[in-house]
Amino acid sequence: MKALVYHGANNKSWDEKPKPQIQQPTDAVIKITRTTICGTDLHILKGDVPEVKVGTTLGHEGVGIIEEVGTAVTSFKKGDRVIISCITSCGKCVYCKRSMFSHCENGGWILGHLVDGTQAEYVRIPFADNSLHHIPAESDEEALVMLSDILPTGFECGVLNGKVAPGSTVAIVGAGPIGLAALLTAQFYTPSEIIMIDPDDNRLEIAKQFGATIIINNNKENAVDIINKHTNNRGVDTAIEAVGIPATFELCQYIIGPGGTIANVGVHGKSVTLHLENLWAKNITIKTGLVDTFTTPLLLKTIKSKKLDASKLITHRFKLNDILNAYDTFENAEKEKALKVILINE
Ligand code: ZN
Ligand code: ZN
Repeated sequence: MKALVYHGANNKSWDEKPKPQIQQPTDAVIKITRTTICGTDLHILKGDVPEVKVGTTLGHEGVGIIEEVGTAVTSFKKGDRVIISCITSCGKCVYCKRSMFSHCENGGWILGHLVDGTQAEYVRIPFADNSLHHIPAESDEEALVMLSDILPTGFECGVLNGKVAPGSTVAIVGAGPIGLAALLTAQFYTPSEIIMIDPDDNRLEIAKQFGATIIINNNKENAVDIINKHTNNRGVDTAIEAVGIPATFELCQYIIGPGGTIANVGVHGKSVTLHLENLWAKNITIKTGLVDTFTTPLLLKTIKSKKLDASKLITHRFKLNDILNAYDTFENAEKEKALKVILINE
């Protein structure tokens, strides 16, 4: 079969690889029908994630059809259509028992990281019973790729950790796919304002269409001044960091109001200054964490009932074997006006 293989920093190729086999009785092998590329894959390709070994197939998102299941898998059978969660979980360890699946002692984020991932014609999924979700009949499978990672990430790490509440004010720093996923799911709670901050005018325009009430281009405008003006100098109740660089996390510290919550979603590679000299008396909470994907079933229901339109996040489509071009498009997201690119394997 073919797979997108990591060969070290700035080096990837579309290679022939052996089709994955069942290794443990709890495994399933899935034929991928739709997958996508994540900002995290670009981090890996920059060499920022050194634990990824040369030869690993990238990708941790996708939907597909079960090709084969191990003898201990009871919830899925050959031919079932499934969503692959970016987080693999055993369901039995101390963290799984607390729904902290990202810390699963036998799984966590391993796909396209510690084991071969989903940017391939087939993928082996460990602990299939806990790590896959059934696709309901007549679903838009392409939209459900957004449930592998970005929607639960935006919702859990941004909206839930950020304690978005009715009538509250929310600022989201970063209007990439994850920031936009937080914007879409924040609206479940009807906050009074959702302020979107990003240097890309096209993404801000999309954010406005998706429900942002104020957009700020922080290359051209002073986000702190504008937010102060809109909040009577109080700051926001929730600041969601969806970029992963020091400047954006610091910005969250300048715009958070007393009693507010900063929810970090971005993947940080550098240390960030914590301005306790400003924050020590402000009753703020800072939340961190990787997605646990415990909300995937409820998000699936909101998509099924059309309360949430996940397909809005898809801008480009490629054949799976055209994945190198898809990477070029995704790497030049601003120029190409790209959010999520879908790779189709049929
Ligand atoms: Zn991802
Ligand atoms: Zn576990």
